[in-house]
Amino acid sequence: HATKRTMADHLRKYESIFTLTSPRMRMIVDAFKDTLELGLEKPKQVVPMIPTFVFGWPTGEETGDFLAVDLGGTNLRVCLVTLQGNGKFEITQSKYRLTEEQKQEEGQKLFDFCAECLKTFIETNLGEGTVKDGEKLPLGFTFSYPCSQERIDHGELIRWTKGFGAANTEGRDVAAMFRESLKRHNVPAELTALINDTTGTLIASSYVNPRTRIAVIFGTGCNAAYMERVGEIHKIKNLGIDDDAQMAINCEWGAFDSFEHEHLPRTKYDQIIDETSNKPGEQAFEKLISGRYLGEILRLVICELIDEGVLFLGQNTYKIEIPYALDTAFLSLMEMDPTEELLMIIGIFTHFFALETTLAERQFFRALAKLVGRRAARLSACGIAAIVSKMGYLETGCSVGADGSLYNKYPGFADRVHEGLQDVFGEKGRNIVTYHAEDGSGVGSAIIAAMTKIRK
Ligand code: ADP
Repeated sequence: HATKRTMADHLRKYESIFTLTSPRMRMIVDAFKDTLELGLEKPKQVVPMIPTFVFGWPTGEETGDFLAVDLGGTNLRVCLVTLQGNGKFEITQSKYRLTEEQKQEEGQKLFDFCAECLKTFIETNLGEGTVKDGEKLPLGFTFSYPCSQERIDHGELIRWTKGFGAANTEGRDVAAMFRESLKRHNVPAELTALINDTTGTLIASSYVNPRTRIAVIFGTGCNAAYMERVGEIHKIKNLGIDDDAQMAINCEWGAFDSFEHEHLPRTKYDQIIDETSNKPGEQAFEKLISGRYLGEILRLVICELIDEGVLFLGQNTYKIEIPYALDTAFLSLMEMDPTEELLMIIGIFTHFFALETTLAERQFFRALAKLVGRRAARLSACGIAAIVSKMGYLETGCSVGADGSLYNKYPGFADRVHEGLQDVFGEKGRNIVTYHAEDGSGVGSAIIAAMTKIRK
């Protein structure tokens, strides 16, 4: 019983540092809203509020065959999407694993790999005659890193995120680089739209649910998109686009509170993650929320307690001391464990880390996972609330299409976001509802490629 009491004492300490109160959330929402507005007003802001040159919502009448390549974070995905009109579609896809080395090598080589995979995909999946000799299929390229765009088929990489660092790519037009690789490998595809997965998710979701106003991704990274009136995007006034036109904005909100760290409650574990990341100071909001980091936050707490002699005394702990050894998927499993003895958690620690645990420790780990997961969901709610309040969607209510493993697989994540929205807005917060979005990087990218074709 001595251990149990100790673990409970420790838990209280972590409860106090990982808990976000409602007043604190409202302060974050206010600062977030100002940041979004600043990003629309001036170029080169921390949260860049990127104009995507995707104009307005789809009609549902878009048709045709489209290729889609998605360079996401963990995988490379290649799809063939057949839009049938009336909001219907068919999709065939393949996934290719990306290695850590590929994420860091020469940028052109990374795009060569994408082109090779696309070529293989076309050869294996497209029947004879789908692409006629000398013809090319339109290709939507989902490239989910912040790019500054002047038109839909072009985009300069502002900076890598999510652990990517391929050389000679930042500052360059990634659409042109990919086109070069497609040419080199003789791939019968023409890159017509460069999009962000968040924008794709926004468009694909509105295709099936017209109440959708916002899309959010909770995967390796965290980001959001929404539709804005061009007149509000002051920084592109010079382009002479009709003020009343609508354009999707890729917020790149993962960067909120970067560098100055004025608004978000960061613990020392968050600071360690930041300092040891390949991009210190950057993506401050994302580092508290996304799948890439949540497991690591919990692992750092465990390591601290190992150092203090509280956990695993006398056991060899080297496996859990490896950075990023604890995937966020383990947090999901810990929270999901249905057994009283927490057998799932026993399994995780014995199989993956060769560690024995007591019941009190397992209860502690689960409670800790809950704190970290809950904080992430509540911070996400702050971001959504900022867009809702900026756009005045609270009264009428709106749907928020959400995607990514964290949203789809982490138990209770959506409920915690909804709870957070009610803590910010009170009862009216119920008007804002998230739901599992349509596939943005496949279907969304195809719809955008089709919308572009119609527009031309
Ligand atoms: P993408 O790389 O395109 O963002 P995902 O949406 O699948 O892909 O996100 C991957 C991230 O989700 C990884 O950081 C991983 O740790 C996390 N993840 C994977 N499975 C789960 C799960 N079951 N529960 C919570 N997080 C998960």
